[in-house]
Amino acid sequence: MKKKIKVRDKEFDIFIPAADIDRKVGRIAESINTDLKGKVPLFLVVLNGAFMFAADLMKKIDLENNISFVKLSSYTGTRSSQVVNELIGLTEVVKGRTVIIVEDIIDTGLTMQRMLEILHEQEVAEVRIAALIFKPGAFRANYKIDYIGMEIPNDFILGYGLDYDGFGRNLPDIYKISE
Ligand code: 5GP
Repeated sequence: MKKKIKVRDKEFDIFIPAADIDRKVGRIAESINTDLKGKVPLFLVVLNGAFMFAADLMKKIDLENNISFVKLSSYTGTRSSQVVNELIGLTEVVKGRTVIIVEDIIDTGLTMQRMLEILHEQEVAEVRIAALIFKPGAFRANYKIDYIGMEIPNDFILGYGLDYDGFGRNLPDIYKISE
């Protein structure tokens, strides 16, 4: 694992090594397996950022389940987009289902808020949120996040699915922008 990396014009320092991420993912999976025992949830993975988290998480889920991949807002540069678009890719019937939204990171929380609105319009039975990373200092919404891998300060991070300007998503560790 490299301590420092450069992606495009920015430098990043190691922040959360892969082994730590794996432990957090394992803990989330254990909680979901316990809490939803006997249910058949539909996991909605929010692309692009959550692909790696979802792949690791789903290997540890022992419930009967379905997985679907959806997409919402676009995100460019180091600031969260204020414009939240429609949900693309939701082909499953969600009415009456227990849905678990799998998200890489919740920052302002507005993306997730839009997801929740859309799912409630479609009359889901129950929605739960699993986010690998949460930035409480940036959060501007008002709902409960059921499963959180870790809370971090308001720094821009990349790796493990998260990008900077489209790069760095494949990194197995999470890096933080250098001050
Ligand atoms: P929110 O709507 O909660 O403000 O933002 C959610 C989305 O913003 C995430 O799905 C992610 O794509 C992006 N995002 C928020 N913070 C970061 C960050 O620190 N690094 C990266 N790469 N993306 C982030």
